[in-house]
Amino acid sequence: MRIVLMGPPGAGKGTQAKRLLDKFGMAHLSSGDIFRAEKSSGSALGAKLAGFMNTGKLVPDDIVVEIMAMAITSSNAAAGLMLDGFPRTVPQAQALDAQLARAGKPLDAVVVITADKEKTVDRITGRRSCPKCGKAFHVKHIPSAKGDNCDDDGCDGKLFQRDDDKESVVRKRLDAYFAQTEPVIGYYREGGKVRVVEVDGMPAPDEVTKSMFKALEKLMEGKGR
Ligand code: AMP
Repeated sequence: MRIVLMGPPGAGKGTQAKRLLDKFGMAHLSSGDIFRAEKSSGSALGAKLAGFMNTGKLVPDDIVVEIMAMAITSSNAAAGLMLDGFPRTVPQAQALDAQLARAGKPLDAVVVITADKEKTVDRITGRRSCPKCGKAFHVKHIPSAKGDNCDDDGCDGKLFQRDDDKESVVRKRLDAYFAQTEPVIGYYREGGKVRVVEVDGMPAPDEVTKSMFKALEKLMEGKGR
């Protein structure tokens, strides 16, 4: 199965992406993760990306398309592919369509996790993670038993907040989503070549997963797989 996973920051895309991977085992390409890895490598490209990312702006299309096209080509997409955070603009979606059409591997579905704007601000600004083991926390909803340190057995890492999770940046990321990324959903709907599946991301994560799986299974049955 080849899918694009979309949704505003804070809709729970990361959690649902993991569950999709566990169930369907496809290759996972998250543009945000790929860009963050480039940022921490200390490369010139990473520094360029950081300039956009740290201020909540979208990285320009030409840079995104080049990096993601390479990642898609070198991924083992035979078992399927999940694109997460890409495409985020209509020109990116057009470039992706062209690449997948050339490879004879069109998308099966676009999964959109929808969310309430103010609730997502609360979800994101409270996010903290452990730099040592990667465990995720939320200052109000999933606090660490050890305050500012990771409570995972023997870890004790000092929890941190992503630069782009600060409120002013989050609001800019949300504005970018509604101005530039929401039109991508319309692009796929109007194109009529791929099914758009919308899932409400506000209920508890397990419920969101259930609705998402149900919709995808129905879709794949319809395709005779
Ligand atoms: P994410 O973790 O997906 O929220 O991505 C973090 C940041 O990386 C975004 O706020 C953007 O600055 C940048 N980014 C990730 N994916 C894209 C994309 N497809 N187009 C433009 N910028 C992107």
